[in-house]
Amino acid sequence: MPANDKTTPLHRSVASSETAREINRDIVLHTIHLHQPVSRADLARLTGLQPSTVSVITGQLIDEGWVLPGTLGRLPRGRRPTFVTLNDKHVALAIDLRPELANLAVVDINGKMLSRDTVAYPMQNVSKAEVKKTVQNIAKAARTLRAALSDRVFQGVGVSVSGRVDQKTHQVLFSPNVPWTQIDLHGELQKVLESPTEMENAANACLLAERWFGNFGDAQNMIAVSVSEGIGTGLMVDGRLVRGHHDMAGEFGHMPLEESGPVCGCGNTGCWETFASNRAGLRYYREQVPDSSLSSFQELLSLAKQGDVRALRSIDKMTTYLARGLTMLVAGLAPEVIIVVGDCTALWPRISPLLESRLIAKSFTPHTPRVVAATDGDAARLRGAAALVLHKVLFRHAEFKPVENSKTEQARPRVAASV
Ligand SMILES: [Zn+2]
Repeated sequence: MPANDKTTPLHRSVASSETAREINRDIVLHTIHLHQPVSRADLARLTGLQPSTVSVITGQLIDEGWVLPGTLGRLPRGRRPTFVTLNDKHVALAIDLRPELANLAVVDINGKMLSRDTVAYPMQNVSKAEVKKTVQNIAKAARTLRAALSDRVFQGVGVSVSGRVDQKTHQVLFSPNVPWTQIDLHGELQKVLESPTEMENAANACLLAERWFGNFGDAQNMIAVSVSEGIGTGLMVDGRLVRGHHDMAGEFGHMPLEESGPVCGCGNTGCWETFASNRAGLRYYREQVPDSSLSSFQELLSLAKQGDVRALRSIDKMTTYLARGLTMLVAGLAPEVIIVVGDCTALWPRISPLLESRLIAKSFTPHTPRVVAATDGDAARLRGAAALVLHKVLFRHAEFKPVENSKTEQARPRVAASV
């Protein structure tokens, strides 16, 4: 939550008329996004704003090119209303930085992926110059994607990264599994791509993507768990992203589970991610098959899909530890939804029941959260990166606030009756 945000309850009553106009604009945009195609009358009903206010704001949004007047709707009687939709000409360039490769995509305002590319790079024991070279290679691929869609309006670059990002300085603060902290990653990318660049932790970005593109547009309490070489979490509590001091909140992957456990990338031992990450899954397999030539988690997944008992046992053990950590998060944060992001979701039919049964077994209330897989982990992280840009461009005031009927009235009272 930005420190200067004017929508906090304390400040709502003194919001200037200009701020009020902007807030109402955000509310209308968000509501169009959630309910499109939608008529102006329904927008007024859903937002609680006056129909005349909705008409003026919608007209402005059409003039600005964010919204398109669409098809005529059908009602049982009376005049046929014109539905409005978001203008999918607006796109973001999304870059998801994984430990050994970058996924890139152009994503439109509705979450549709228009084109994709991948850039692989070495990350073990690399020099600062090599990291900068990697950034150049990523930028080259990004420019090619952008050039191929020159008829679209690029709103900026969104970067999702496995690490914590200080939102004031844009520096990657903590990234034990990748060497991005060696350089000014944000500055370098912004310079070579010559575009405004938003950068955020991958799990936080996935939460934003669920808000923007996903099925949980109105959920108030969510946890995204990104399972890859490490474990990162994004936390939304009471409708707000939890950032913490220096934006470091969410590093539950480094919560100590067993002090006597393996050494972690953070320097401690027995962190949650040393038991429940992809690396842990691979280790469990190698413990059973010491002479195995298995070198990647993808290979482990393939074996498991073929029914290899030892591979399945490894995945189950990893899942059991994933559940153990999640149990603590559930007890402490009471999420409504847990979104699991990562390659392991390819085995969701096996993982899901095990996760849920463990959470239910440890739950002391009847309100266990829904546990869902982000559909296509790669796409989820890319949409998250795109959501960073669209959220920044479109929602200057309405971070994570719902626009649903009565909740709107409670959480964000109408600020202005006219614009
Ligand atoms: Zn650790």
